[in-house]
Amino acid sequence: MLTVVMYHHINSDDLPLSNSDQMMEEHLKLISERFTTLFPGDTSVSGGICLTFDDAYYDFYHYVFPLLKKYNLKALLAVPSAYILEHTDVASEYRLSLKHHEIYEDDNYKTYVPFCAYDELREMVKSGHVMIASHSMNHINLNEEGVDLEREILGSKVALEENLGFRVDSFVLPYGKYNDEVVRLAREHYSYVFRIGNALNPSWDGIGGLIYRIKGDALKTPDELFEPLKQLGFWGKTVVKMVKG
Ligand SMILES: [Zn+2]
Repeated sequence: MLTVVMYHHINSDDLPLSNSDQMMEEHLKLISERFTTLFPGDTSVSGGICLTFDDAYYDFYHYVFPLLKKYNLKALLAVPSAYILEHTDVASEYRLSLKHHEIYEDDNYKTYVPFCAYDELREMVKSGHVMIASHSMNHINLNEEGVDLEREILGSKVALEENLGFRVDSFVLPYGKYNDEVVRLAREHYSYVFRIGNALNPSWDGIGGLIYRIKGDALKTPDELFEPLKQLGFWGKTVVKMVKG
């Protein structure tokens, strides 16, 4: 079974969606000792794990990227393309200091500095430790009426590929929300489409064409996700999802 884990922030006040930098380091160290980290499509799925980080917050570049290099790990970063500046000279301390709700308040949001910039994304991709996924253009619920799905799903891929100079073949559904048309379009333009769901996957085809991710935020211990009872829960959910088709 293929395990895919979903994370968001590091050291954020948005506690359900964050880990401390210390917890993340202990967790990633443990992963480096027990697993092989994979990019979407990498073979040898047995003993493999795929780490995904959503929203491309600057805290990923600041805290996680150095850890990926230190422990020789790979991660997939899901980027909402409309939030990304080419470059910023704003101080690291300020970019990290914004509280989660402040990031999405108009004035701060428009500065785009709480998110990684394209020069940072390119540096991370070139290192071989990070691969970029689209997380739509505007990080909106794609299941709502009136959403321009072509723009959000295909437009974000085009924007990311033009700015990065790398192929983007993975899509991470914002908020895990979708409908049949969203899945159809995403599968048409991407090889790998990710959702939320606390289940494991038989292969990179996922279940019903969607790759399930387990929640890696707000860890209480570095090995919490790999405890037998938790694993049993993930397996149970996987079986239920597969039977339901
Ligand atoms: Zn998101």
